[in-house]
Amino acid sequence: MLNVDVAIQKLAAMIAPLSGTEVVDVADSVGRTAAREVTTPISLPPFDSSAMDGYAIACNTAGEVAPGSYQVVGTSAAGHPFDEALRAGECVRIFTGAAIPEGGEAVVLQEDVERKDDHIDFEEQTSPGDNIRYAGLDIAAGAALIDAGTTVSPFARGWFAACGITQVEVTRKVRVALFSTGDELVEAGRSLEHGQIYDSNRESLKALVDRSAVEIQDLGCLPDDFDATKETLDRTAREADVIVTSGGVSVGDSDFVRPAVEALGSLEFWNIALKPGKPLAVGRVGDTLFFGLPGNPVSTIVTYMLFVEPAISRLSGAAWPEPQKFKAVLEGEIRHRKGRREYQRGFMRTVNGTLQVSPTGDQSSNRLATFHGCNCIIVVPETRDELSTGTIVEILLLKNGSLL
Ligand code: AMP
Ligand code: MG
Repeated sequence: MLNVDVAIQKLAAMIAPLSGTEVVDVADSVGRTAAREVTTPISLPPFDSSAMDGYAIACNTAGEVAPGSYQVVGTSAAGHPFDEALRAGECVRIFTGAAIPEGGEAVVLQEDVERKDDHIDFEEQTSPGDNIRYAGLDIAAGAALIDAGTTVSPFARGWFAACGITQVEVTRKVRVALFSTGDELVEAGRSLEHGQIYDSNRESLKALVDRSAVEIQDLGCLPDDFDATKETLDRTAREADVIVTSGGVSVGDSDFVRPAVEALGSLEFWNIALKPGKPLAVGRVGDTLFFGLPGNPVSTIVTYMLFVEPAISRLSGAAWPEPQKFKAVLEGEIRHRKGRREYQRGFMRTVNGTLQVSPTGDQSSNRLATFHGCNCIIVVPETRDELSTGTIVEILLLKNGSLL
């Protein structure tokens, strides 16, 4: 059996980012991978502006920025600048986001000021630059907002807009084709005959793959048949960048997926020291990357998260994602036997400042119920037998079906 880390390294070494880019509107860019560095054409803020409501003061007649009495000569509001220059001893009423007039040295907060007719007085210690956001303080024109290979976040979308950017160049979508295999499988909506079950893996996979950087091709469900599997793989490999299948990769009499891949291309690895997901098969059909995920519903999802998702990310031009590992105190026992690394579904929470985690019930690989209420994966090392309550364990956090 192949160690999980070695399998992941082998996979990472098989993948280079796809070539091909497209220009999309900023509104469509979230979740896509930037094909090149995105730079801002303007500085932020674009002009010197006030951070507070108050008075923008010039220096006093002695040339100092200091407490004292200043004459109010006008107003600068957001979108309505005061267009004249301030002279020594003058100030303007100013509001948050409004332009600092020429000659303005500091903004004094309105609550620190006593106003009498067209004069203000204040005693608060004041220094040049107080409460002023200078042009370019956040970012200067020409500087990089995000690097090539960055996944565009919702925050970046707002940042692009702040800089007046309307379009970005992103890498092309990764074409992912998927099908399930199994004579026992029926699509939800039909009635079940004895011995049949509903095809849940294809739904899980479509939900997991459904990211804006991906184009999904759903090829449905195939019977346990060598020729049909081979024909579909062959045809699909001409168009898809990645083929993901579920079921039929084990050692049963009706497991035809591995032989079909070997007949057309090659298997890079199979038989991993992993639970659930030992029979995961990874290979190539032509230039297309192939992932044969084991059919047990939990194995399908766990192997997708550990292997397929990072591979798709890398193909789209992002760096290979390394999941963030946290330490938590185990509540409850975990029964386990040395040999395979196990990824259990867990519920993590903070109790008196300490992370605690408990498994979400019976961890059988057919039990989709273990994902109900789970917010993390508990990693049980291949070197350990059972873990007792109170053991410090490694956990991987989950968000929207992805490892953080
Ligand atoms: P296999 O990997 O084909 O040997 O399947 C292992 C187990 O997973 C069997 O109990 C199958 O019935 C079940 N299974 C396979 N494919 C699916 C699927 N698409 N949806 C739900 N269960 C499945
Ligand atoms: Mg099967």
